Amino acid sequence: MESYAAGETTPPLLEETIGASLARTVSRHPDREAMVECTTGRRWTYAELDRDVDAVARGLVGAGIAVGDRVGIWAPNCAEWVLTQLATAKVGAILVNVNPAYRTHEFSYAVNQSGLRLLVAASSFKTSDYRAMVDETRDQCRTLERVVYLDTDDWAGLLADGAEVPAEAVAARMAGLGAGDPITIQYTSGTPGYPKGATLSHRNILNNGYFTTELIGFTEEDRLAIPVPFYHCFGMVMGNLGCVTHGATIVIPAPGFDPAVTLQAIQDERCTGVYGVPTMFIAMQHAPDFASYDLSTLRTGVMAGAICPVEVMKRCIDDMHMSEVAIAYGMTETSPVSTQTRGDDDLDRRTSTIGRVHPHVEIKIVDPVTGATVERGETGEFCTRGYSVMLGYWDDPENTAEAIDADGWMHTGDLAVMREDGYCQIVGRIKDMVIRGGENIYPKEIEEFLYAHPDIEDVQVIGVPDERYGEELCAWVKMRAGREPLDADAVRAFASGRLAHYKIPRYVIVVEEFPMTVTGKIRKVQMREESARALGLG
Ligand code: AMP
Repeated sequence: MESYAAGETTPPLLEETIGASLARTVSRHPDREAMVECTTGRRWTYAELDRDVDAVARGLVGAGIAVGDRVGIWAPNCAEWVLTQLATAKVGAILVNVNPAYRTHEFSYAVNQSGLRLLVAASSFKTSDYRAMVDETRDQCRTLERVVYLDTDDWAGLLADGAEVPAEAVAARMAGLGAGDPITIQYTSGTPGYPKGATLSHRNILNNGYFTTELIGFTEEDRLAIPVPFYHCFGMVMGNLGCVTHGATIVIPAPGFDPAVTLQAIQDERCTGVYGVPTMFIAMQHAPDFASYDLSTLRTGVMAGAICPVEVMKRCIDDMHMSEVAIAYGMTETSPVSTQTRGDDDLDRRTSTIGRVHPHVEIKIVDPVTGATVERGETGEFCTRGYSVMLGYWDDPENTAEAIDADGWMHTGDLAVMREDGYCQIVGRIKDMVIRGGENIYPKEIEEFLYAHPDIEDVQVIGVPDERYGEELCAWVKMRAGREPLDADAVRAFASGRLAHYKIPRYVIVVEEFPMTVTGKIRKVQMREESARALGLG
């Protein structure tokens, strides 16, 4: 059988704008809690959220923001982030999510590439002095007219701009918008070179948020802890829109991820769900007082963003009460989710696959060289097609044409296998595949193997240059607390007889942390460079 699958087509796609969807939820559940910001204790019901979103929307109209204008946000997670997200959607402004980890070069690139007119920003957060970076790049940011700092009088100033704008002006704006209109630009971090602005519509992200939480059984009774960043689809689509479409509660544990604070928020806010990239769940499960938190209200959640280790999933189920936890897979360019495990899947499917095709979406696995669809069980590139595929990269037809083929298939660059039962597994990135002496090695296989070592807390495997074999395997290992560091001999002894010789890492480097993006993606490129340097390899 071919590696092709199409998702179910019920319930139907939501054919409305984000503003219209919010309005429906507000009328159904005005008094239910919409949002909680744990660090400040601020709370909103849906009626209050609607009122405050409208105030920001009127402010944007008063500030002269027209339909299609780009409005940026450069801030860690906070309530105003959500207000800005929903307000821009109501007035038809395209929200540009600026990665909070960006520095001046990337920031000014994003401003100019998207043609940003107005920026909403935090003044600073941890080591990021956003105000200083804005000041430093102001001359280069050609289109930027105004910056509204959230923690200053600027925010009140924006709201004041809307004081004279009648509510009907926002309603009129909303009435003129279409579900297919672009509503957000998100710069992707994945590929080397310059960032590309994935442009997504109301239809793209509203439906993806809706179906992600539909598949984990969300209702207005649910309360979701969102420690993943809002600037990424995981936060603002799967999280915020996943809640808004169901009348559920957005719980913001903190501006940035902290394992203990997240666990505390789950306990205090009686959360029924929590999202995270694998490293966040690992950090929570290894938090010093993990067992002392009351997580009994948890039922579900989503792990996604990077390969989800089986053991970590099992601990979510066994130790975090997340009996209905799901794995989702996707990428920014596809809104993001393309596959997800289901609540009634057996343990194997729920812990060792990325699930099956999402509703209203098609997927296939193709030979990366010939483009032909491979047989089930064979490895190839994961491709997806449907409502979820982005409109394109902003102002970049060339890269768009390279990513989305003439038949509308998005080529993800991920290597995957579709099993006989239609469930898929990610086995790596095309560019992370290691070729040692002609043997193709998928680092994930070695990582899963070493993960079972009792002294190893986490592990990442990469290829490093080698004169004889072209590439050799190098494992970066994070030890469990109090365990002796492992060396290459110890790893060899552990793996000998259980792994083919060419899959046993030649080098082992013990580290405290892996270099990582804010969304929990390991920077393997950086690891390769650092390893080559540390090992003195050319
Ligand atoms: P981004 O566009 O930042 O969301 O990154 C998308 C990439 O994250 C995908 O192309 C995958 O390489 C990776 N990814 C996302 N979810 C998963 C998952 N569940 N398992 C493995 N890799 C994942």
